[in-house]
Amino acid sequence: MNRRTFNTKLSQGIAGTALLSGIPLACAMGGAQNKKKLGIALVGLGSYSTYQLAPGLQDAEHCYLAGIVTGTPEKEKVWMEKYGIPKENVYNHENFDSIAKNDSIDIVYVVLPNSMHADFSIRAARAGKHVICEKPMAMNVEECDAIIDACKKSGVKLSVGYRMQSDPYTNEIKRLVSEKPFGKVMYVSSDAGYISRGNPEQWRLDRSLSGGGALMNMGVYSVQSNIYGVGLNPISISAQEFSTRPEYFKDTDESITAQMEFPNGTVGHMFTSHNASANRLFVSFEKGWVELNPCHSYGPISGRTSEGNEIKYPHQSQQKVQMDDFAKHILMGTPNVAPGEMGKRDMIIVEAIYKSIAEGGKRMPLDLGDMGIVKKNI
Ligand code: NAD
Repeated sequence: MNRRTFNTKLSQGIAGTALLSGIPLACAMGGAQNKKKLGIALVGLGSYSTYQLAPGLQDAEHCYLAGIVTGTPEKEKVWMEKYGIPKENVYNHENFDSIAKNDSIDIVYVVLPNSMHADFSIRAARAGKHVICEKPMAMNVEECDAIIDACKKSGVKLSVGYRMQSDPYTNEIKRLVSEKPFGKVMYVSSDAGYISRGNPEQWRLDRSLSGGGALMNMGVYSVQSNIYGVGLNPISISAQEFSTRPEYFKDTDESITAQMEFPNGTVGHMFTSHNASANRLFVSFEKGWVELNPCHSYGPISGRTSEGNEIKYPHQSQQKVQMDDFAKHILMGTPNVAPGEMGKRDMIIVEAIYKSIAEGGKRMPLDLGDMGIVKKNI
């Protein structure tokens, strides 16, 4: 059998298996693996896509901005001209599913209000596209399960837009935690918040679109950094909510504090707010401490240790590094540093925090095991 006949037979074999198992052909054929750079389509062209993701993609090494999906027709021409996007790679919310036929789109990146994450992520998976879903992954754990399930069924990869998981400062914290130059972790504290003074009608303050307030928006960063600041998932959480501007935060949480217990005895504390600026991770070890402040913003991040050493890395777009990491995962099989299970785990914690608050700060046991912990991702 010559090489060409072999390849044809191989393709027919894969195609047959794909059809029998219901996996979309484009995906099962593994077209993406033969490419050098993967095409990303951004769904939702709001501020994050406009000011972070699209610029980040201009410098990316393993992916590029190939397409857009928008519900606002006026944006189509602007984006096509600015980024040289061909008309056939432009979709709206209605014709989005036909993206299945477009081989130049490998990854769909969902950057819409939280209530729309599950719908578009599932539609993207069914179209045979790999998926990046922005944080928080969805409105609740049930929706996270539905996204994970759809991606599994279609045989596509799934990642959550947790840019900090690709950041060198985060990975230095992970190294200090696992290699223990300061001994074991005794206490971790993480804050993430900003003062919201904008339009009170914005979707982030509308529970039906956001699923919650500060906790859903910024609190997931504190949850994440508490976890990588210890290297383990918490075994319990108790939480409190504070409100000082109820006329503005009518529908969503303003500020939340929570305390976590970890299986090795470490104590964790988190604060999140839409009414206070906070941007910090502090990890206290047996023989010293490390602090990042600012910690969760787009950078430059700044870090220091109890020995007076500065933690410093050259600044680059976190979004570029994050999207390149996911493209490398697809192209080269490197670890998926922010898999769907991580987003689901954080949503389990978010739900436990809201439940604890509803029950007067009651301690909520958590049974997470290693869910969402990614090893060897340094
Ligand atoms: P945004 O308000 O700037 O943009 C939202 C986009 O969704 C707009 O293009 C808007 O037209 C569209 N949209 C469709 N239906 C809508 C509706 N019913 N109401 C409002 N907008 C609607 O929001 P954003 O800051 O770009 O956030 C989008 C997603 O990205 C959110 O899930 C957010 O949590 C996430 N995000 C992540 C980061 C990060 O650092 N990873 C940063 C910012 C935002």
